[in-house]
Amino acid sequence: MKVVVIIPAAGLGTRMASAPEAKGKKGSPSKQFTELGGTPILIHTLRKFAEAAQVSELVVALRAEEISRFRARLEKEGKAILKKKIQLVEGGEHRQQSVAKALDAVGAQADDIVLVHDAVRPFVTAEIIDAVVQAAQKYGAAIAGMPASDTVKQVERTAEGAVIKSTVPREKVVLAQTPQGFRYDVLKKAFDEATTDGFIGTDESSLVERSGHEVAVVMGSPRNIKITTPADLDLAEFYAGK
Ligand code: C5P
Repeated sequence: MKVVVIIPAAGLGTRMASAPEAKGKKGSPSKQFTELGGTPILIHTLRKFAEAAQVSELVVALRAEEISRFRARLEKEGKAILKKKIQLVEGGEHRQQSVAKALDAVGAQADDIVLVHDAVRPFVTAEIIDAVVQAAQKYGAAIAGMPASDTVKQVERTAEGAVIKSTVPREKVVLAQTPQGFRYDVLKKAFDEATTDGFIGTDESSLVERSGHEVAVVMGSPRNIKITTPADLDLAEFYAGK
């Protein structure tokens, strides 16, 4: 059994528009390349998985024009990462397509484990990686998640804003994080079905759920944030400085 990690990192990160240092070649900001302590977030994230003994292979989906620049950066700053087998592949139009393309590049057996992790969650820990791998081996599918501490409302969007329709009992809610881990055969089937049906989800678990496979949840961490907005970046700088 081997563990392969897919990192979708081909996003434009439009919600980080006010972070000028993250501007890509065409003037479009790419949050995964924003630097924390002088090193791109994506390299911080890859280091976490490179340090995990059970991980044997990494596949990173990038925008085509960023592949050679990132390879050069890895050679300079990612020596520990390059000790693992690593493939840089071209991503797609949206996250799911980027993961699908990376999955196509993976040579795996049915019971190998594929972890998918957001490029912009650099504070994942060895404990979370281990818990997801173990639960994915046991149940076939598992994600890191956090209980909700805020009260959760279901809303209807209107031209004026949002109107509350109901309150969702908090104990019935988990906020999904990554890594999300699956047996290769479970994930491949879910992706094939989603492609056939034209379904697009915002995470891999949603594809596996609709294919009829139960997905277990293990405890994530409040620090395992997805760096999405400039406010998240402020928090990330604080965490990275500790
Ligand atoms: O934009 P979103 O929050 O969905 O991005 C989540 C992750 O998916 C990020 O790591 C981003 O780089 C990646 N992504 C991707 N390909 C896209 C869009 C997003 O790999 N076309």
